[in-house]
Formats: sequence, C-alpha cells, structure tokens
Amino acid sequence: MSRPYVGRFAPSPSGPLHAGSLVAAMASHLDARAHRGRWLLRIEDIDEPRTVPGADRVILGQLEALGLRWDGEPVWQTARHRLYERAFDRLREAGRVYGCACVRRELPPGPYPGTCRPPTGTSASGGNPAATNRPIRSWRFLVEPGMETFTDRWLGQQSQDVAAEVGDFIVRRADGLWAYQLAVVVDDGDQGVTDVVRGADLLGSTARQRQLARALGLRAPRVLHVPLILDAAGHKLSKQNHAPALDVSRPLECLRTAWKALGFADLPAATPQAFWLEATAHWARRFE
Ligand code: GLU
Repeated sequence: MSRPYVGRFAPSPSGPLHAGSLVAAMASHLDARAHRGRWLLRIEDIDEPRTVPGADRVILGQLEALGLRWDGEPVWQTARHRLYERAFDRLREAGRVYGCACVRRELPPGPYPGTCRPPTGTSASGGNPAATNRPIRSWRFLVEPGMETFTDRWLGQQSQDVAAEVGDFIVRRADGLWAYQLAVVVDDGDQGVTDVVRGADLLGSTARQRQLARALGLRAPRVLHVPLILDAAGHKLSKQNHAPALDVSRPLECLRTAWKALGFADLPAATPQAFWLEATAHWARRFE
C-alpha cells in the first residue's frame, strides 16, 4: 500500500531565496498539492558557520508573500541534534562508520581513497589502526560496493557507483557538526517524507542518501530533480555565486518566471491564489 504523500522544502538559511530556490520550492509545492499531500518546511541550518542570522525569517516571509503555504510548524535542524546523534550511534554500533584522521587538503581530488577504512573483517568503529595513530577528525560512512540504481520522476533511471565515484563519505565533520547527508536522511525518515522534489544540483547526493537510509532501516523517498536555473554566463544560480535575493514585491512575476523555468508555457493569472490553482492542475496532469 502506498503511504500518504509527504513532501518538503528544505532551504539552507545561508541567504534569502533566489530565483533558483523558488523553482525548487515551486516544484516541490506543486507536487505535494497535486498529490493532495502534506508539504513541510524544514530550515536546514545544520551548517552553522554558513547560516546567516535572520535569513530563515526572510525565507519564511518570501514564501508567504508568494502564497506558498506549508503544513504544520516549520522545523529547524539545529533543534534536532539528538536525532542525528541517535542515528550516528546506530551506525556506529552496526560498524557502518569509522573515524578518519585525514585532512582534506592532503587528500587527492576525487573519491576518498579509503586511507582510514578499517581492513575488512575488523570492527569498523576504531578506523584503521595503522592510519589513525593520528587523532580522529571526522567520521565516514562505509559505503556498499556496486551500482545504486533508482528512478528519478523527472530524469528517469539513474545509477551511481558510490564506492567508485565518491568513496566513504563524511557523516560527522572535523568541526563536530553533522554532515548534510546524515541530517537530511534522518530528517526525511523522521518526518515520514515520501517524496523529495529539489534541484538537480542534489541529484549526485541521492545514491549516498539511499545507502544511508538503508543502513538506518529507513525507506528512501521517491525523488524528482528539476533542472537548475543558469545565469547569463551559464553558471548555476546559487548563493555562493551571489544570485540576487528574490524580490517578492511582484509575486505574480516571480511565480510566472519560475513556472516558465520549469519548462511550462506562460501562465497568466490574476492572483497568486489563481496561479497556484491552475499550476497545480497542470502539474497533476504531467506528474500524477
Ligand atoms: N538544504 C539544501 C539546500 O538548500 C536542500 C536539501 C534537500 O533538498 O535535500 O540546497
């Protein structure tokens, strides 16, 4: 039996929403509404050094101004450390994480070479004794070998060999913070998220997240990744690239631009409410 649809939008408060983040928010909102599901809002402020104070409130205000209504109360990852800790302990007890002494700048580019990976057949949690006579800095997830294959509802079938392309990845950072990969999987599991709709910049994380979900006994959500918005020079619009904040003083213009960026024909509507109704009907015809 299929579970009732639960979607989510999970912005990082490293700045206000920009045109690219609205495209992801719109797709995820429309998909939830088209499935008559719930749409949750999760503020991904786990990466505290990157959090801009007050950006969360700005994002909430931008969403409201655009007529994007979430269900229930938003959650903040910084209030959920206990959950991540519990999941980490579980992985540790199962021998699925190990301590790593490597310093990023000493590592070759590309997949983690497995320097601190414990030899097979030994208990994982201590890491590789030979390599870890230096202090443990971060904790890595011991990935499974082989292809991870899944269906993306926009892009079709996808495969990634996580061991070969990424290697054992970090779940607890050298600064003690939980890595995005761990927090997102734990949150999606805890919140009963059935469907993740987000930008294609995160497509490359999906296989890792599926492996983590499996190791934690969680059901991996279905995924749909929408194309990224590029600026005039062909770069992805992102906060790191200083994409301008979305000006929501003309909500309909923002909504119509994001809608067209998703590849749909223009949708003239008199009000944001009318826009959302019509756009949901279009989306339902294409993605139900
Ligand atoms: N917090 C992430 C971001 O803003 C999105 C995480 C996700 O949707 O899985 O890019």
